[in-house]
Amino acid sequence: MSENDVAPVTGLEREVDVAIVGGGMVGQALACGLGSSALSVVVIDPMQTDAAGRLARVKAEAEKGFDPRVSALSLASEQILRSLDAWPTMAQLRVEPYQRMRVWDGEGTAEIGFSAAEQHQAHLGHLVENRVTLAGLQQALEQHDNIEWLGGRTIATLSEPDTDGLESWRILTLDDGSRLKARLVVAADGARSATRHLAGMPLSEWDYQHHAIVTTITTEQPHQQTAWQRFTEDGPLALLPLAGNGHQLSIVWSTSPNHADELMAMDDAAFSEALGQAFEFRLGRITEVDPRFKFPLTQRHAKDYVAPSLALVGDAAHTIHPLAGQGVNLGLLDAATLAEELLASSELGLPLGELQRLRRYQRRRQGENLQMMATMAAFRHLYGEVPPVVHWLRNVGMKQVAATGPLKRLLVRHALGLEGDLPQLAQRPLEQTGLG
Ligand SMILES: Cc1cc2nc3c(=O)[nH]c(=O)nc-3n(C[C@H](O)[C@H](O)[C@H](O)COP(=O)(O)OP(=O)(O)OC[C@H]3O[C@@H](n4cnc5c(N)ncnc54)[C@H](O)[C@@H]3O)c2cc1C
Repeated sequence: MSENDVAPVTGLEREVDVAIVGGGMVGQALACGLGSSALSVVVIDPMQTDAAGRLARVKAEAEKGFDPRVSALSLASEQILRSLDAWPTMAQLRVEPYQRMRVWDGEGTAEIGFSAAEQHQAHLGHLVENRVTLAGLQQALEQHDNIEWLGGRTIATLSEPDTDGLESWRILTLDDGSRLKARLVVAADGARSATRHLAGMPLSEWDYQHHAIVTTITTEQPHQQTAWQRFTEDGPLALLPLAGNGHQLSIVWSTSPNHADELMAMDDAAFSEALGQAFEFRLGRITEVDPRFKFPLTQRHAKDYVAPSLALVGDAAHTIHPLAGQGVNLGLLDAATLAEELLASSELGLPLGELQRLRRYQRRRQGENLQMMATMAAFRHLYGEVPPVVHWLRNVGMKQVAATGPLKRLLVRHALGLEGDLPQLAQRPLEQTGLG
């Protein structure tokens, strides 16, 4: 199929087992997790392309530079993407492992470092452009006959659940007027999920009062495969190493809305100087800056991740401050866990949309996601306050974590995705676990 063709949806009410609305990283990962099973799966997404088209475009864009949307993928995410067979394509495109992490407080003297070696790991994670992950996943997705990509379409309406005996379903109308009957509809359509909205799922939202500026920079000194993060009074500044000439980094600068506006209004020279100062010139001067983009940061959390014949995954269920670099990592764990539960239901011949079964997925993921969100909210709060006692507390806290081996190890293992209720797709072969 060429990039401009749209596969027709045949029949007024075509039936599928699972309709995934949103073919982002999380929606595609879920689809791949259901690959080669007895379930019929469709992925509905505005992006009208096939894997070959996407791959060609990513390769052409890579020649020109880096995607400003970059994610720090944890070891658990890497394992999920390997299990789904997306990783080989991603590795062929470009991924950058990072070996170390340095975090410090610009107002005090506290500093903490983590290294792969001390965790008995080959690396702490990878920095990967989102478009690379998407290309790897779509390549993997097309290997499965039971999955169909319905590109160039969005969801328009969603019915209430209907039931017949044990079986329940929902009817989706797409923006081209076609209708689908799905035993399970999965909202994977991102932070402003139309599916979640159409289903009337309640959401709590909290404005972080931060805007994030993202761009790619080149620094005088090499990045040393280290992820750098400095906490300032206005918010955290992260510099993340990219594959390339060893001097290119992706930045995520979270700061107050006013400061973000000022930074966006600067020319490249003034911005480079301001960034260099904020980063204490730890990698020397900033010699090049790509175009900058700004996003408001909002924490969102759906009260329930499931309803009859409906499940929310990824950003449709929760969005989190990027300071921990955990958003898509949590989403990929949602996808892997939901796939595991759905395959188990299917093998047992149980209805896919049954609320009681879907709640197993919610129980496994909601606590983990809330815990990560609470930690980020506490950090945001701690670094948004100025009284001296708060300075003192956070410096002492960071020093204690730095000094206490087991606590530091536990914190890091959680961030790497090596702790908690891991779905099978995220479990690594024993020899790679670092527990030996
Ligand atoms: C500045 C910044 C930095 C970040 N850094 C990191 C990081 O380092 N590590 C990390 O883990 N996370 C990071 N994140 C978070 C991460 O980007 C998100 O968590 C992740 O993209 C969510 O993936 P998703 O597939 O759930 O949603 P999305 O990526 O939003 O994908 C949603 C998909 O749904 C489609 N869609 C939308 N509406 C419809 C509709 N009506 N019908 C059909 N399809 C639809 C869209 O086209 C898209 O393909 C960062 C976020 C920000 C803002």
